[in-house]
Amino acid sequence: MRAPVNAVRLFLASSNAGKLAEYRVLAENFSSSISIELALLPGFDGLPAYEETAPTFAENALGKALHYSRLREGLVFADDSGLAVPALGGAPGVRSARYAGLEASSEECNRKLLGELSGKNGPQRAAYFVCAIALAEQGCARAIVTARVDGEILESPRGSGRFGYDPLFFFPPLGKAFAELSREEKNEHSHRGKAFRRLLSLFTA
Ligand code: IMP
Repeated sequence: MRAPVNAVRLFLASSNAGKLAEYRVLAENFSSSISIELALLPGFDGLPAYEETAPTFAENALGKALHYSRLREGLVFADDSGLAVPALGGAPGVRSARYAGLEASSEECNRKLLGELSGKNGPQRAAYFVCAIALAEQGCARAIVTARVDGEILESPRGSGRFGYDPLFFFPPLGKAFAELSREEKNEHSHRGKAFRRLLSLFTA
């Protein structure tokens, strides 16, 4: 990493404005003396796509950040995240978004997960979310961070907020499913929140 700075501008390798908004909230709540400006990578949809086919979240995040940083100026960050269930050999893992098929909905992925875990109890329902975030500039890796949050897979969905596997992910410290958390609660405890704060703290170290 570079020496400490006062302002930093990061480009998210995505065209997902919702994801950018989520990262902006995390950046705004990051107490620090530096000003953090976030933007989507210009013209992302028109750039050659990066295929996320690596076996780990970190490799996918880093591969994506490196790929897009070769195509655009500036500090580019990319993430990869998902749910891992040790009793299922780490599945859904890096295939979290397409666990029940390429076009499958979150509900279908959740249903498949419940099916795979049927008859499994206690520690066999342990699970964790992982988020890896990589930062690159002009084809050089600048940083990579990962974070996880531990919980348990419920027998049936709870709550209506958030997205993906949140209705099935029970978070013992708050006694709620992730889908029952407020946005602030999820940001404080989530794998993505923790990983991004870790990345930002590298600029102040
Ligand atoms: P992405 O890498 O952030 O696009 O996440 C890939 C997939 O992992 C999503 O489509 C979700 O199925 C799952 N996932 C990642 N993070 C979360 C989360 O915070 N809650 C629920 N599901 C998540």
